[in-house]
Amino acid sequence: MNHISPSWIELNISALQRNFHFFRNRIRRETAIYPVIKANAYGHGMAEIARAVAPLADGFCVHSAEEAAKVPGTKPVLILGHFPEDMGFLARLILDKNPVFTITQFEQAEILARAAKAAGKPASVHIKVETGTHRLGISPDESLKLISELKTFQTIRVKGFSTHFANIEDTTNHQFAMEQLSRFNAFRTSLPDPENYRFHTACSAAALLFPETHMDIVRLGISLYGYYSSGETRLSAMQQGLQPEDRLRPVLSWKTRPIQIKPVASGDFIGYGLTFRAHRPMTIAILPVGYSDGYDRRLSNSGYVLIRGQRAPICGRICMNMMMVDVSHIDGINRDDTVILIGRDGNEEISAETLAAISGTIQYEILARINPSIPRISMD
Ligand SMILES: *Cc1c(COP(=O)(O)O)cnc(C)c1O
Repeated sequence: MNHISPSWIELNISALQRNFHFFRNRIRRETAIYPVIKANAYGHGMAEIARAVAPLADGFCVHSAEEAAKVPGTKPVLILGHFPEDMGFLARLILDKNPVFTITQFEQAEILARAAKAAGKPASVHIKVETGTHRLGISPDESLKLISELKTFQTIRVKGFSTHFANIEDTTNHQFAMEQLSRFNAFRTSLPDPENYRFHTACSAAALLFPETHMDIVRLGISLYGYYSSGETRLSAMQQGLQPEDRLRPVLSWKTRPIQIKPVASGDFIGYGLTFRAHRPMTIAILPVGYSDGYDRRLSNSGYVLIRGQRAPICGRICMNMMMVDVSHIDGINRDDTVILIGRDGNEEISAETLAAISGTIQYEILARINPSIPRISMD
């Protein structure tokens, strides 16, 4: 497929569309679905994912203004996090993309008001309301105060309010999330004119499990890419009647080829630190992928790859740009074989969840850290 780069990413676009429709069919039509394409679309490739899902999506969420500037096309863009105090940049962004900025402070509105004036076009903002996560957000009282302060700005339009759940994917007990939801609903009711605003709370887990969180916009991240937010989320969905045939399909596969295949004698060591020692004659393959590519070094001596439908365990430490795997049991292996780092091969599958479980993290981190310079190839 790709003989130039050491490794490459294949994107299953029909899986992406299928995952989107899975949610579209479960969310009422009046609710907009905004795919979350921050962090290079969770490592999948922002340009490729945005282009592929744009015909289906109502808009996009990104983390930063810098990311917003890179979203292709003309769909609405919602910035969930950071924007800089760079007037020239902000004015251009307001002119080109007219994104919605998330704000939590009067000073941020002042900056946007100045940029909007320079652009000759008002800036749209959503206020993030603190309901218990204690990440970004201001209390309901401070939010009310901020709205009234912003009335003095001709160039700022408050268009909506959002909040984010702290404990909706890490548990099957959703009491804390429901308390946050009721705080957010109480805030909404306290507004004199709620019909003038859009409200949003739902990430993937909320979108899957709690229709009452959908409101005006669903911010669909990890599940668009074919993963449940967690095992607990999957379990809760199954308890609600999710069927096996409904399952989400992983969009991303990561592949490479061996650059050398060679024997190792019994008693020889493999890799830095001599952490692996052969206690039988072995054949190993050297793969041109390492931790600088985003392949987690914590998978040293514990992860595996797939070759010819079989597992090939990692021997020794993951290096910066290479790793070694045991292929002693794989008949006929050669340098033209495709090696699966993430993906399916015959009856075997390595998902980002598999690697997350082995390396003690979450699938979000496994995906988001895949180096953006690795080529992304869209497959039908
Ligand atoms: C990243 C993010 C999401 C998406 O969460 P998923 O669990 O990936 O669906 C939604 N809302 C906010 C505020 C986020 O930062």
